[in-house]
Amino acid sequence: MNSITFLGTGGARVLVFKQLLGSGGLWIEQADTSIALDPGPGALVQARKRKLDPTKLDAILLSHRHLDHSGDINTLIEAMTTGGFNRRGVVLAPRDAYEDDPVILKYLRDYVNETLVIEEGGSYHIGDVTVRTPVQHDHPGEVYGFVFESSDCRWSYIADTRYFPELAEHYRADVVVMNTVRLEESEIYHLSVPDAKRLIEAIRPQTAILTHFGMTVWRAKPWEVAKTLSDETGIEVIAARDGMNFQLPGPLPADG
Ligand SMILES: [Zn+2]
Repeated sequence: MNSITFLGTGGARVLVFKQLLGSGGLWIEQADTSIALDPGPGALVQARKRKLDPTKLDAILLSHRHLDHSGDINTLIEAMTTGGFNRRGVVLAPRDAYEDDPVILKYLRDYVNETLVIEEGGSYHIGDVTVRTPVQHDHPGEVYGFVFESSDCRWSYIADTRYFPELAEHYRADVVVMNTVRLEESEIYHLSVPDAKRLIEAIRPQTAILTHFGMTVWRAKPWEVAKTLSDETGIEVIAARDGMNFQLPGPLPADG
């Protein structure tokens, strides 16, 4: 079974650091591979609360170094490797997460099998999942989203970015998760609800999932925002909830 568990749907500083919503990122199970994505503050606690076992992780992925995405990355590296006693797994992150003022502590890097640096247009194999990082985002620092592909499933994660039209082509997939921080368009480096609508209309996925809400989306009730977007686009749009488990398209039954 392929699935995404949302270990937190909070985005942006005020909401995350008040913990009005969780901020543990996403836990992915795909093609028998377990991946933690953007483990912000509380990722380990949220994972254990959902009975997810970090010692079974195969990889930890980081879209960018900001703390609402990376706060628990070192904790999860220790957890994945049982404090370094069981060397395993892959860490995939942008270069500036490793270099000066690194968010990935140096002493932990030997605990894992591989630390990989994201390249624009890169493609990485984690178990039977191919992870692609098609384009650098328009957001402070070095930021990438991800496309996850396995034999039976293709979905994408549009991490923090200012809207640009090419996003739709880069993240075309059956299921698209997008970090939708702002209710209205603004000059900050984040997607707004009108941007999400533009992307949904251009990509026309089976399902679009909104997450990483800032205060303005939270006040507008994300589930109502999603309902309006569904009505306007004719596409299924879901607002993620803390702890929500979403079943991705999965293996066909054995008898076909
Ligand atoms: Zn950010």
